[in-house]
Amino acid sequence: MFRKILIANRGEIACRIIATARRLGIRTVAVHSTADARAAHVAMADEAVAIGQPAPADSYLRADRIIEAALKTGAEAIHPGYGFLSENPDFVTAVEAAGLTFIGPSAEAIRAMGLKDAAKALMEQAGVPVVPGYHGADQDDAHLEGAAEAIGWPVLIKAVAGGGGKGMRAVARPADFAAALASARSEARAAFGNEAVLIEKLIERPRHLELQIFGDGTDAVHLYERDCSLQRRHQKVIEEAPAPGMTPEMRAAMGEAAVRAARAIGYRGAGTVEFIVDASDGLRPDRFWFMEMNTRLQVEHPVTEAVTGLDLVEWQLRIAAGEGLPLTQDRIPLTGHAFEARLYAEDVPAGFLPATGTLAHLEFPETVRD
Ligand code: ADP
Repeated sequence: MFRKILIANRGEIACRIIATARRLGIRTVAVHSTADARAAHVAMADEAVAIGQPAPADSYLRADRIIEAALKTGAEAIHPGYGFLSENPDFVTAVEAAGLTFIGPSAEAIRAMGLKDAAKALMEQAGVPVVPGYHGADQDDAHLEGAAEAIGWPVLIKAVAGGGGKGMRAVARPADFAAALASARSEARAAFGNEAVLIEKLIERPRHLELQIFGDGTDAVHLYERDCSLQRRHQKVIEEAPAPGMTPEMRAAMGEAAVRAARAIGYRGAGTVEFIVDASDGLRPDRFWFMEMNTRLQVEHPVTEAVTGLDLVEWQLRIAAGEGLPLTQDRIPLTGHAFEARLYAEDVPAGFLPATGTLAHLEFPETVRD
């Protein structure tokens, strides 16, 4: 196991990683911007290194300074948390080139799943069911509309580089296609610098079920599903496990597909395979399709920890240290039921734009962990 790791993140996820590292006897190095010198993650870590000015581009996204901090403090590995550099394959390459371990998947696995169109094509080859639609390279307007026609209305236009529900437009009829395509493209260009789209069948009674997976580079297991169907503007609000109404057949089929997806890319570490389910007739094993894979630990991972009793950060650390998968599939427990709710701070009169303000009062419920 590692003796010392650096956490290339801040806030809740940095604190969460430090807590597990401490329990395992691993020393921790925090990094911080000048604005975060007195943040909780800095106080919690054994050591801290200032890496730049408050803007993320000048600090938490500065791969060079983060790697330099790891080398200077003698950290052997870097945990990226989520957000920031966690899904940046160039960062992984730079970390490894510096002789350090990246606590996460390979640069190739991140790249393979980075764009929705390429990921869908790869999964199709691996025999994982994907959402019916067009995910080819031809981005000509008439060709895309023809593809929508062939798929059958209603369809969903999605940015291939999408995330956070951006660059997505549902279209019910041909007359609305051109305008929806133009607005999806301009949102995608602004948010991701890539205006390529794919077209999918719009599932009208959808449920979003995602499988937590872990791989060791060869083999993979799943830690069951999370139900993230309760969304607003294609963004998760409530995450829950297990999924209400889940059947043994459905769980077996989805688990098998998720593990196949992970094996197809020689996945190492924690990941989430997201599926969309047509729930118009309950949960049926022939009605779920791959949407995308997130190649990192997710915000909602504690829901899985609550129902399995496992520490997912510990699994990440053990796998990165070369210990292999901690449990075989048949040994992974599932008991109880857990929910996570996301709290959004928004400016309502401004059309629910994200907002910050002063938090006057906050009280956390007592948490009980076995
Ligand atoms: P992002 O990466 O932007 O989060 P996803 O592809 O993960 O985009 O989709 C976000 C959400 O949009 C899904 O959880 C689901 O609720 C909805 N969605 C995605 N694809 C479809 C589809 N084909 N039909 C209906 N809803 C969809």
